[in-house]
Amino acid sequence: MQTTLSIVKPDGVSRGLIGEVVKRLEDNDLRIAAMKMIHMTRTQAEGFYAVHRERPFFGSLTEFMSSGPCVVMVLEGEDAIARYRTLMGATNYKEADPGTIRADFATDIEKNVVHGSDAPETAAFEIGYFFNRFEIVG
Ligand code: UDP
Ligand code: MG
Repeated sequence: MQTTLSIVKPDGVSRGLIGEVVKRLEDNDLRIAAMKMIHMTRTQAEGFYAVHRERPFFGSLTEFMSSGPCVVMVLEGEDAIARYRTLMGATNYKEADPGTIRADFATDIEKNVVHGSDAPETAAFEIGYFFNRFEIVG
């Protein structure tokens, strides 16, 4: 069993896509072990995406991620990190496989509806960034 962090980003929340994302997780055996709505400050978004701080899109990305509420979730399942990334599709929605969340709903390389951890180490950091152990249901 593996855990990963999922975020429905501010574009997904404001466009009414929370249920659509949750449906796809449930249909694909990714168990929701924790879930809450948050609205990050700019500083909190900068801390979450610190790995990208040197990238040209960092300023715009952290402004976007702090622009409205997000839904953050801990997902659990076999090979959850890779399986959830497959459901999400490529970062650039134009390159995402048909039927993926990003291919179906993203409008922009930045406003791409969802986030997912990319490795066990990043999943551990990202889950710990938003949840304490009492908030994760076994
Ligand atoms: N992003 C962007 N421009 C880029 C690459 C990424 O605006 O050229 C944004 C996009 O929202 C992406 C996030 O930065 O989801 C984090 O980038 P990463 O490369 O980690 O992509 P992800 O893991 O989300 O697919
Ligand atoms: Mg990433």
